[in-house]
Amino acid sequence: MCLTIPGKIKSIEKGVARVENGGRSVTIDLGLCLGAKVGDWVLYATDRAVKQISETDAKEIISLLEDHYHTVDVSKLPLQFKKILFKVRSREKVESRKLKVKSGGKEHDLTKAEIEYLLSLKGGENLETLYAEANSLRKEMIEDFVCIHGIIEFSNYCRNNCLYCGIRADNKELKRYRMSKEEIIETAVRAVEDEGYKLIVLQSGEDMSYTDEMLLEIVREIKKRVKVFIFLSVGERPSQFYKKALRAGATGSLIRFETSNPKLYEKLRPKHKLADRLALIREQIGQGYYVATGNMVGLPDQTISDIAEDLMTIKSLGVPMISSGPFIPSKGTPLANHQSPITNNQLSSNNQFSNDQINGEWKTGNEKSIEMFLKYISIARLMMPEIKIPVTTALETLDPENGRHRGLLAGANALMFNLTPEKYCKDYSIYDNKYREREKVWQKYGLFKGEESWEMLEERLML
Ligand code: SAH
Repeated sequence: MCLTIPGKIKSIEKGVARVENGGRSVTIDLGLCLGAKVGDWVLYATDRAVKQISETDAKEIISLLEDHYHTVDVSKLPLQFKKILFKVRSREKVESRKLKVKSGGKEHDLTKAEIEYLLSLKGGENLETLYAEANSLRKEMIEDFVCIHGIIEFSNYCRNNCLYCGIRADNKELKRYRMSKEEIIETAVRAVEDEGYKLIVLQSGEDMSYTDEMLLEIVREIKKRVKVFIFLSVGERPSQFYKKALRAGATGSLIRFETSNPKLYEKLRPKHKLADRLALIREQIGQGYYVATGNMVGLPDQTISDIAEDLMTIKSLGVPMISSGPFIPSKGTPLANHQSPITNNQLSSNNQFSNDQINGEWKTGNEKSIEMFLKYISIARLMMPEIKIPVTTALETLDPENGRHRGLLAGANALMFNLTPEKYCKDYSIYDNKYREREKVWQKYGLFKGEESWEMLEERLML
């Protein structure tokens, strides 16, 4: 679902208002807010007001997308960085001349060496510049519209034994749950009807006790009862299943390739092959799914070169959306005490955390993992200006206070909210201390019922 932007009404004439949002001034139809007066704040989508809100709420929403970057003296940046920025900016010029064609000529693509260079950037000024560049590209290409996905994690049973994943079959510490068909449908319907969600992700471990037919029925029934886009994230099933699910009403698929390094992939996902995963991803793209794919950043033995390859893989697949996140060690897995070579990330369930447990709030202070992932988001934005990049829960877990804000300001433009019923939530522990939404401002003010947002989505999903 796409969010609206708050704006303050400056003048009104015959149901048409001039609103201001930061430096921007636009004309909108007062649509659903005919009672609004000059000086009031409204949320608007494209060119239509959809809801009147208080000034405090408007400012709260604005602050999430607001940046506080200081101007950077580009002349002081390292030469190679300057060259890359020049290249990115000249591609933008080419693209805007061609009226936003998907990508400039190949000569404007970042090379692997350049991607590696950016992934290795250090130092405040350099990083600020990288994030700011990506953020301004986001603003230019897609403005401040943010897309919201609601995720229902309906089962934590899994037949696989991925070394990194907390819900792996061999994790005996985990309390397992399965939501019934009715419960899944009801959760989805409630999210749409009561909260205004328009895009829902159904995710689970690879749990074959839900037959293909059961999943199809769930999709069909939700689509029958409410108007919503359904994304599946249920792992590897026969391509016939995915074909049928599309017919049943599914729109998208969240399916990561996890790492583009085949050796690392096979080590982390026993009995699985990268080539098979990529073949399934390509098949889904061919079938017409809106596919989101990506990797984990900070895996054991993963190198900067691997991450650069991951980004290039996403670009070459040509998907409209990324699904990536920082790796977070999970207890009950062989990687519980893992230390990443590139982020020195050692987040585990051992005692080291007890000091970080402040008022039940989990603070890792693991700035390196966060930084690496923010760089990853920014580079993805520079390489693929129009791609949708969600701030995934894993980043919010590493920085519960500001992860979401920092992700958006590094070039991300979508958010994931958890819709899993409270009683199951803690057991869907893919990794430790998984973030769960506390402040509800977006739910309260961003979500609304109205056709505008639906149309924007339809356009975005290329239906
Ligand atoms: N069964 C589905 C969904 C998997 S869970 C599938 O196979 O696609 C969703 C994602 O969580 C995985 O794709 C993986 O990238 C991520 N994940 C698993 N363990 C993780 C960890 N320890 N840290 C960060 N992300 C993790």
